[in-house]
Amino acid sequence: MAKFNENFLNLKESYLFSEVAKRVSVFQQKYPERSVIRLGIGDVTLPLGSTVIKSLHSAVDEMGSADTFRGYGPEQGYDFLRNAIKEYYKSFGVELDADEIFVSDGAKSDTGNITDLFSKDNIVMIPDPVYPVYVDTNTMNGRKIVYINGTAENDFLPMPDRSVHADIIYICSPNNPTGACYSKAQLEEWVAYALENDAVILFDSAYESFVSDDDLPHTIYSVKGAEKCAVEFCSLSKTAGFTGTRCGYTIVPKGIKSVSYDGKEMSLNKMWNRRQTTKFNGVPYIVQRAAAAVFSEEGRLETKRMTAHYMENARIISETMEQLGVWFCGGINSPYIWFECPFGMNSWDFFDFMLEKTGVVGTPGAGFGKNGDNYFRLTAFNNKENTEEAMRRFRTLFE
Ligand code: PLP
Repeated sequence: MAKFNENFLNLKESYLFSEVAKRVSVFQQKYPERSVIRLGIGDVTLPLGSTVIKSLHSAVDEMGSADTFRGYGPEQGYDFLRNAIKEYYKSFGVELDADEIFVSDGAKSDTGNITDLFSKDNIVMIPDPVYPVYVDTNTMNGRKIVYINGTAENDFLPMPDRSVHADIIYICSPNNPTGACYSKAQLEEWVAYALENDAVILFDSAYESFVSDDDLPHTIYSVKGAEKCAVEFCSLSKTAGFTGTRCGYTIVPKGIKSVSYDGKEMSLNKMWNRRQTTKFNGVPYIVQRAAAAVFSEEGRLETKRMTAHYMENARIISETMEQLGVWFCGGINSPYIWFECPFGMNSWDFFDFMLEKTGVVGTPGAGFGKNGDNYFRLTAFNNKENTEEAMRRFRTLFE
């Protein structure tokens, strides 16, 4: 009989969103007349921009004509999109070669798939709280994980501890779920730590388009030396509403080397290329055309408008927290607001309390790691009217 991968026995039950859905459904059965407002969603709600739609339509038409039809494309992505991404990075003062850019179906798969390149006995450093995919994919591979604690004391931006060694370091900035965003000086410390430890940083910048503060970096390559130690994952999911359309990209600089036990060197870029050409057959042509439109001048204006729409909701939520004296972070360079559960409650008790009293749904922080036990995540992805109403109801908890 085929033996299964026993590391799967070590995965924690992923019950966060199913448990949220279950509790909301019980509430709705109990109070069919009461309205529920969902500020727990990590999915976008605005439709694709008109420039993107136009590009999609014309790509679909190309597929219907023998002389413009496309079959298998390059696994790494079409040149037109890789070059558009290269130009985008230039706007941050970062020079990349097009063959350092790999187009993908999103950051979730790539942040998980990258684990293929590394030996099982690497020590992996993962912040807590964070997007759960990093922990689960490394657990599936049986790697040892050391956690770095995000707490209110460090504004949920843990810094390297020189007494602890790691080979692989995950950084998510702006962070999901806390919305906290590293400064350039802080990323410089992480890059220095990685270079001292011959470690690789896996930098998830899925929310970079929400960074509005001019001093904060959108990419880790704003830091000198990152091109020798950092892989960056990005996504058009939240930037341009591609959660259902699916397109992201991963930057693997040619300057990053990895070594085997007997000292043989391999280029991570070449390894990733080999991995992708073996296990992945590329993103659909029509989706890549839509993605390229996101990077056009009009596409970028549309993206800015979408982000501004969500960030107005974030402002409404942040302002409410400020006025109520609730400790929070995020909400400025991120669509997430992460706050301390009021009244000394833990996050699941607060979830039930808020739902029962107000009909507002959020995400309990416990779902993102143990440091989230007493925290709660709200998102800016609903519409303005619902966000305002949710905050009006939220205030009643304090009356
Ligand atoms: N990285 C982070 C930090 C996320 O929060 C998410 C989605 O919520 C993803 C990656 C997944 O992105 P994608 O839709 O590109 O797979």
